[in-house]
Amino acid sequence: MGKADFQECPKCSGVMMVKYNPVIPLEQNEHCFRCGYFHNVELLRTEFHMPIDCYNNEIEQLDTSNEVDWRETLLKDEKGNYQFKEQSLPGYGCYLLARVDGSSEFSTFSKPVTAEIIQELMETLKDPFYDQDKSFIAAWDIDKNEQIVLFGNAKNIPYRCKLSFKEWSEKKEKYKLEINW
Ligand SMILES: [Zn+2]
Repeated sequence: MGKADFQECPKCSGVMMVKYNPVIPLEQNEHCFRCGYFHNVELLRTEFHMPIDCYNNEIEQLDTSNEVDWRETLLKDEKGNYQFKEQSLPGYGCYLLARVDGSSEFSTFSKPVTAEIIQELMETLKDPFYDQDKSFIAAWDIDKNEQIVLFGNAKNIPYRCKLSFKEWSEKKEKYKLEINW
């Protein structure tokens, strides 16, 4: 999908990244950095089949001299309507595993955070490859509508993962911050 934008999350009012296709407005991917809310709508396309006679034994040696239509085709039902698939997740929080080399793995939870999930992440963090001081695990309490820091220092949580969209936008404006904050 072509473009990305930031909006207020409909679930937690946090910072949500919205990727969309400027050509097909229905196609949209929403993912919140704070609660992990996820919503994706995609039109169905034909499977991408590579014609067998396009190859000269090796995949690298693709013979593009053949006149093949490489474009994907959008699928329609018998009434001529485009078909799409829709996926949605309510959002259960987010976590960040910081590495000692300065890089990090950020992700959101796709199911309620259990003791096992925390245990697993804690085990991973024991590896000296990770920097425990900069890592965090923060569940999202859907009923109370608040973030619960399960591991790590709240001070180390990036703004986009803990502030509301409004607070984040104000800070971003005031301090001319990069998106990564
Ligand atoms: Zn959210």
